[in-house]
Amino acid sequence: MKTALVTGGSRGIGAAIVRALTAKGWQVAFCYRSSHEAAQQLSQETGALAIPCDVTDSEQVRAMVTEAARRLSHIDLLVNNAGVAWQGLLTDMTDDDWRSVLDTSLSAAFYTCRAVIPGMVSRRAGRIINISSIWGRVGASCEAAYSAAKAGLIGLSKALAKELGPSGITVNCLCPGVIRTDMLACYTPEDLAALADETPLCRLGTPEDVAATVCWLAGDEAGFITGQVIGVDGGFGQ
Ligand code: NAP
Repeated sequence: MKTALVTGGSRGIGAAIVRALTAKGWQVAFCYRSSHEAAQQLSQETGALAIPCDVTDSEQVRAMVTEAARRLSHIDLLVNNAGVAWQGLLTDMTDDDWRSVLDTSLSAAFYTCRAVIPGMVSRRAGRIINISSIWGRVGASCEAAYSAAKAGLIGLSKALAKELGPSGITVNCLCPGVIRTDMLACYTPEDLAALADETPLCRLGTPEDVAATVCWLAGDEAGFITGQVIGVDGGFGQ
């Protein structure tokens, strides 16, 4: 049976990825930071293993990966999905604001990859999918740290694809557009309608749109795809 570890699985896109993979018969572990109730409910619904872990803490990540690998026996697929947004002028950001955004998306992916890759290399197989953002490709005003973190994930994915290809491991990056989750709470309904209008496919994305692309990239049919940056954005990022 195929096994997966998803970071930030308690809500939004991560929860949709957990649901989609378990529906396809994968054994899944996911981590979360603080949404204990939502994580327990998802665990009961899907049979996935929920592990509390703050991914900005490398020691917690090391322990979480060890626990996931022990319970799943090994990890075939790692999805680095956890992320936080921060909106405002760069000049208003504190050091802690900056670190929180960079650490949650980018440093966390380094911590998980460092912990998961040795097992994949020893089996000479594995898939890593990093959830970046359209803003990592094109940049967003008032989201400089977020854009930098997500651009960093693109660079990390391309470099690791070259480093790990000879070991039979693929590494790819997804760049969602505007996806309906709690992360959009800062937008008014008018903002959201305008964003849908700007999207060539005339709607916002859903967590299931992203989850379906993860399932495809994790499947046998995508075995020759690595180092790619794939938009799941309804054409918004073109
Ligand atoms: P969301 O609904 O806010 O969910 C974020 C998830 O990440 C939650 O499960 C949260 O756990 C977890 N998380 C946050 N900080 C964490 C930490 N320090 N340690 C462990 N888990 C942590 O966000 P989303 O919209 O689903 O976004 C998922 C990913 O897609 C993010 O990387 C985001 O940047 C990216 N993305 C989203 C959009 C969009 O429009 N929504 C667009 C492009 C890219 P808790 O529930 O415990 O807090």
